[in-house]
Amino acid sequence: MPAVSSPEAVASAVHAPLREATFLQDKFGRAITDLRLSVTDRCNYKCVYCRTGNDGEQYAELALDEYLRLARVFVSLGIAKLRLTGGEPLLRKDLVEMVRELAKLRTPTGEKLDIALTTNGHLLAELAQPLKDAGLNRITVSMDACDAATFARITRVPGSYERVLAGVRAAQAAGLAPVKVNAVLLRGFNDDQIERFAEFSRHENVIVRFIEFMPLEEDRVWTPEIVVPMREILERLGNIRPVVALPPNAASETARRYTFDDGIGEIGIIAPVSLPFCGHCSRIRLTSDGKIRTCLFSQMDHDLYGVMRRGGSDEELAAFIRKVVDQKEARHHIGEPGFQKPSRSMVHIGG
Ligand code: SF4
Repeated sequence: MPAVSSPEAVASAVHAPLREATFLQDKFGRAITDLRLSVTDRCNYKCVYCRTGNDGEQYAELALDEYLRLARVFVSLGIAKLRLTGGEPLLRKDLVEMVRELAKLRTPTGEKLDIALTTNGHLLAELAQPLKDAGLNRITVSMDACDAATFARITRVPGSYERVLAGVRAAQAAGLAPVKVNAVLLRGFNDDQIERFAEFSRHENVIVRFIEFMPLEEDRVWTPEIVVPMREILERLGNIRPVVALPPNAASETARRYTFDDGIGEIGIIAPVSLPFCGHCSRIRLTSDGKIRTCLFSQMDHDLYGVMRRGGSDEELAAFIRKVVDQKEARHHIGEPGFQKPSRSMVHIGG
């Protein structure tokens, strides 16, 4: 198991001295600037590695104005990037309006909020342009295969591939480029798609990012053997044509970036299992029912919505957020003795 960054290493990972103390920072000195906001845990797909089917749990969703108030408080604390997730966020009828309202927010230094969305793409063809017009900046589409048969086998929804492909193209046409496509790889299930996705990236001009499978699924089927590690993905890509590393866009970027020797296509590899990136983690999450999760692998939720429901002021919400962020975990412990799976599965956390 590769050395994961120690708390000391995490602490020294901080680059610039922190700006005023108003901004969110955990006890290791990491600036927390990214919020992943889940707006529903409903989903119109039943992907085999995620909705493995039996927990049947469904968490509450907040009203639009409640999410907006919480988002406004987070932004006042220096959150500069907000990613809308789910379940499947496009299932929310008020999502376009939510984006429009979020786009009006400004960070304490007056910058526009960077608004992104992760979707399975099934409803994207119709919504790409309205979302762009409302102020959406970036989009990521989860696609775990680029042939119709494998796609339907994974999502358990017939005809889904064509709809998602149409959604990706509609997002490009709407000006949400570069569109990112995330593919979770499972050995023996869709690892035969690596070469196809490389071609897909080159042909469709999208950024394809391969993600190592993490133990976040409902029925706990994860084993180390099912993970296709970054090293192996790179070898397979190198068999297509020479691969060239690209510089990161930001220190906290989760993907290692590559292109091919002719510069066509871009591939990212997100390797939380074989090459963790917790040292630069800048993320916290808010679940669809208003609970803060400081790490994907947290063992507990922090009930921010509860503070609001009990009449808490914006200052009290901000103080609660600050106290919780200070408890953020140093890193995950996947594959280590005593590793405990998180208290919620991915569909109930949000990407
Ligand atoms: S596992 Fe936790 S600490 Fe590590 S990168 Fe993910 S959210 Fe951040």
